[in-house]
Amino acid sequence: MMTASYPDTRLLIDNQWVDAASGKTLDVINPATGAPIGKVAHAGTVDLDRALAAAQRGFDAWKKVSAHERAAVMRRAAGLLRERADTIARLLTQEQGKPLAEARGEVLAGADIIDWFADEGRRVYGRIVPSRNLAAQQLVLKEPVGPVAAFTPWNFPINQVVRKLGAALTTGCSFLVKAPEETPASPAALLGAFVDAGVPAGTVGLVFGNPAEISSYLIAHPTIRKVTFTGSTPVGKELAALAGRHMKRVTMELGGHAPVIVADDADVALAVKATGAAKFRNAGQVCISPTRFLVHRSLKDEFAQALVKYAEGLKVGDGLAEGTTLGPLANARRVSAMAKVMEDARSKGARIATGGERVGSTGNFFAPTVLTDVPLEADVFNNEPFGPVAAIRVFDDLGEAITEANRLPYGLAGYAFTRSIKNAHRLAQELELGMLWVNQPAAPSAEMPFGGVKDSGYGSEGGPEAVEAYLNTKSVSILAA
Ligand code: NAD
Repeated sequence: MMTASYPDTRLLIDNQWVDAASGKTLDVINPATGAPIGKVAHAGTVDLDRALAAAQRGFDAWKKVSAHERAAVMRRAAGLLRERADTIARLLTQEQGKPLAEARGEVLAGADIIDWFADEGRRVYGRIVPSRNLAAQQLVLKEPVGPVAAFTPWNFPINQVVRKLGAALTTGCSFLVKAPEETPASPAALLGAFVDAGVPAGTVGLVFGNPAEISSYLIAHPTIRKVTFTGSTPVGKELAALAGRHMKRVTMELGGHAPVIVADDADVALAVKATGAAKFRNAGQVCISPTRFLVHRSLKDEFAQALVKYAEGLKVGDGLAEGTTLGPLANARRVSAMAKVMEDARSKGARIATGGERVGSTGNFFAPTVLTDVPLEADVFNNEPFGPVAAIRVFDDLGEAITEANRLPYGLAGYAFTRSIKNAHRLAQELELGMLWVNQPAAPSAEMPFGGVKDSGYGSEGGPEAVEAYLNTKSVSILAA
């Protein structure tokens, strides 16, 4: 196995890497070994005040850079990420656990998203609206909303930042992110690429510390004009409420519980290949991970057996090891959460077709798991499991599957497999989701909207909608005097 060095991570304020004023740090743990591998600076209020002042100066400078030049800087940063992809991927795997190939894919996808956003900012058009008074000209101007506070989770340490950063920078906003304390080095490398690409001081900033303390301080602070968060629904609701009290613009990308509908006319081999890959990617710690598998009764055995075979074909191990296809869970909390999910499912009568337990006693490894005959009241069918578990139930009629898919308060992603265009249209119209993939694995791209409805949040992190969320609209009418 390749060993790799792992740096301590500092705060980024005014384009300088600095320790917390208090000198306080937190340990970073490798989830494959349980061993501490480095430290991350823990910001206090003094550091946050400095970061906020820098973000204000950064905004004042960056909004005056033309969209054309901003795009050039962003594209330079994307190029640096590509050059550094191997090194950054190694940091990401060591701190988060995912297999090296997935980590490298995340860095390269990040570069692709930055490129797309870079150019989208050049197409932020206002409007000229015909005036009722011919002596007046009516203009609709689009302006950057201001300094942004972002809060991102540990499952995709780079990409959760990139979608927010891309939209913020392309519109001329400055961007201050509290990235995950558990996975700090890869987001630091991402922001480092922007510093090296030449963003003015304060345009990007990075802090770590106590999430609740930092979010309550930043969201309430008058410098911050926009809040964007990815994480769990309960935390999202708290942050959205706080943002509401301070009248801040908000984008919330929260939990999901993606249904997979395998209709009676589905291509089962395709369904297994597509959802198996999506299910066990990043050990199931993905907000759009397929979770509630609703399979037509006539296909249940064929589908379940094939998915079990897929799961058993995965190689569980350290993400740095050659051939690993399923890494450890990102933190010890997830292992105990998964153990609870299993105990609950078993006690309520679900059958564990494969997996169902921890692997080894060192590191956070959990076996890829397939459950069948899962009762509706099982926890796994109601709360986001955020782990490598596929839970299967049968249905007899497509309407029944749609009702089940819509039963939960979540509405993020969904998947469906059918050869019938009639079914596909019905599913597209009736499923209460932000994203639906039919006959394919999840294929999120920068150009397509990414986000949820209901308790999965609001706003979008892809497509022109993502950019609009970082813009204010100003109506101006000029009368020739
Ligand atoms: P959690 O709910 O406490 O944290 C989720 C994320 O939010 C973390 O990154 C955390 O640092 C951050 N956070 C927590 N409290 C915060 C606060 N007051 N202010 C700002 N940020 C805050 O728990 P967890 O154990 O890290 O994850 C548990 C669940 O969160 C998972 O099971 C999953 O359902 C959800 N989650 C979702 C995503 C996603 O991509 N939507 C990512 C990570 C976790």
